[in-house]
Amino acid sequence: MAKTCKLCGKRRSLSARGYCDECSSRLNQNATAQMRAKSGPIYERWKTNRLKALQKEVDAEKPLPEYPETQQPREPELPDLPEYPEENGKHRIN
Ligand SMILES: [Zn+2]
Repeated sequence: MAKTCKLCGKRRSLSARGYCDECSSRLNQNATAQMRAKSGPIYERWKTNRLKALQKEVDAEKPLPEYPETQQPREPELPDLPEYPEENGKHRIN
């Protein structure tokens, strides 16, 4: 299939996104201008994506950890030791 620039339609060597060098640099300038002006479709899309990403981060923080960081983790419970059999007072001093 013929590779033509998505913007100007000319056959040139295209960037990965399908624009020629000329158009992609113009798009970059346009995008930069929109970001600086905080308006325009590129800025709006960036903002939407950024908000979505932030929302995902916020969601990922839930649920809150069960123990606050300052609280020591509980020691694992030790298994019960076997009871030593009575030795008929063998070790009694009295
Ligand atoms: Zn072009």
